[in-house]
Amino acid sequence: MRLASLLAAFFLFITQALAQTSAVNAPRPNIVYIVADDLGWKDVGFNGATDIKTPNIDALAAGGAKLDQFYVQPMCTPTRAALMTGRYPFRYGLQTAVIPSTSSYGLNTDEWLLPQALKEAGYDTAIIGKWHLGHADKKFWPRQRGFDYQYGAMIGELDYFTHDEKGVLDWFRNNEPVREEGYTTTLLGADAVKYIQQHGKKNPFFLYLTFNAPHTPYQAPKEYVDRFPNIEEPTRRIYAGMISALDDEVGRVVQALDKAGLRDNTLIVFHSDNGGTRNAMFAGVMADMSKVKIPCDNGPYREGKGTLFEGAVRVCAIANWPGKIAPGSREDIVHAVDMYPTIAGLAGASTAKCKPLDGIDAWGVLAQNTPSGRKEFVYNIEPFRAAIRDGDWKLIWRTLLPSSVDLYNIKDDPSETKNLAAQYPERVAAMQKKIEELARQAEKPLFLIDQFKVVQHGMHGQPVLPTDEDYSGVETP
Ligand code: CA
Repeated sequence: MRLASLLAAFFLFITQALAQTSAVNAPRPNIVYIVADDLGWKDVGFNGATDIKTPNIDALAAGGAKLDQFYVQPMCTPTRAALMTGRYPFRYGLQTAVIPSTSSYGLNTDEWLLPQALKEAGYDTAIIGKWHLGHADKKFWPRQRGFDYQYGAMIGELDYFTHDEKGVLDWFRNNEPVREEGYTTTLLGADAVKYIQQHGKKNPFFLYLTFNAPHTPYQAPKEYVDRFPNIEEPTRRIYAGMISALDDEVGRVVQALDKAGLRDNTLIVFHSDNGGTRNAMFAGVMADMSKVKIPCDNGPYREGKGTLFEGAVRVCAIANWPGKIAPGSREDIVHAVDMYPTIAGLAGASTAKCKPLDGIDAWGVLAQNTPSGRKEFVYNIEPFRAAIRDGDWKLIWRTLLPSSVDLYNIKDDPSETKNLAAQYPERVAAMQKKIEELARQAEKPLFLIDQFKVVQHGMHGQPVLPTDEDYSGVETP
């Protein structure tokens, strides 16, 4: 008995020592994680935009890893959930649509989020920008989920100048409403610069900088729109101005890191949360899409936001860290869920409190283009449609009647023009079997449950934000 407890103590000691060794050996960089909102794959210079200029984002791409197969979820909330949990959204009911401003559900509080893991490892953590993982109860808010500092919007879309949706202010600093003048992109960039300047070199930091640009409504200051006299189509010209403003702020953030002497120890990640909108149904609720021409361009990729085609989920993406990430393109698949274990590994942060991760550490791909081993992933699992990837093969299965099955070889046919389902019935059957297995593990979409309640109890039209009486949860000290 005594020997058994001695052995147990010994193994505990060894385990802790190994954990500490990995933390000590980790490079512990600062992490500036920049997310754009509904940015088209081809609406950045480094992917071939000719009318829109993005010199600062292009410089990050030229000096870093350009991720040619970086996958996210088809819409805002699911992608942000995947980033924060390292787990597919179908596991906790966030796989369908976004959290509407009129709804009160959020990302389950029993998930152990990336900022919590990083904070536990001694990082300072900040979110500057849009959250979109629950707004109606403060228990879902970022400061209750591991972020020391918060500035920006809780819901999904807002007016760029008045910072409200339908008259309800959605602009907060450290959970307190803020009324101020300014264009959201400029305000968020300026706040990120201030954060970097004031932070200095004490603890490493994780700055999650989530612009709402260039999501609808299409709004930009005149001086930005005026940069694009070459673009005739009026909405595309405004959209170009929005992206140009975003690019300016990315440049200011990089400059601030340089000035603070932090650039060589900072990993910068940049990507869109989903592809550009190609269907007015998915554009959002604030813009009157009957009056505008959809401006986004996903290049060779089919369709856009909200679908299961590549245009929705294969997004422009960069990882940049001078001296640590070799410049060049990466062909390997990297999925949004991989970023949690990748960043945790760099930070020496433990993932022991996470539920089983879907992500794998992709640092080798980012740094040196060594294979990640990721050959398959889940595009999404919903009760009415699903898609998975197995090597170069992608199956899309729509189960609502009339049902349909698409099989594409993404390597040969990245634009998804040749449906090969009829030619490969055995492959289709095997992939459908896999989808059935995954669907049995899935939680029901909270969006659908919520929409049934709306139908039963009547529509409620205003965004829901908590009052002080609704307060629950504990703020990050
Ligand atoms: Ca989005």
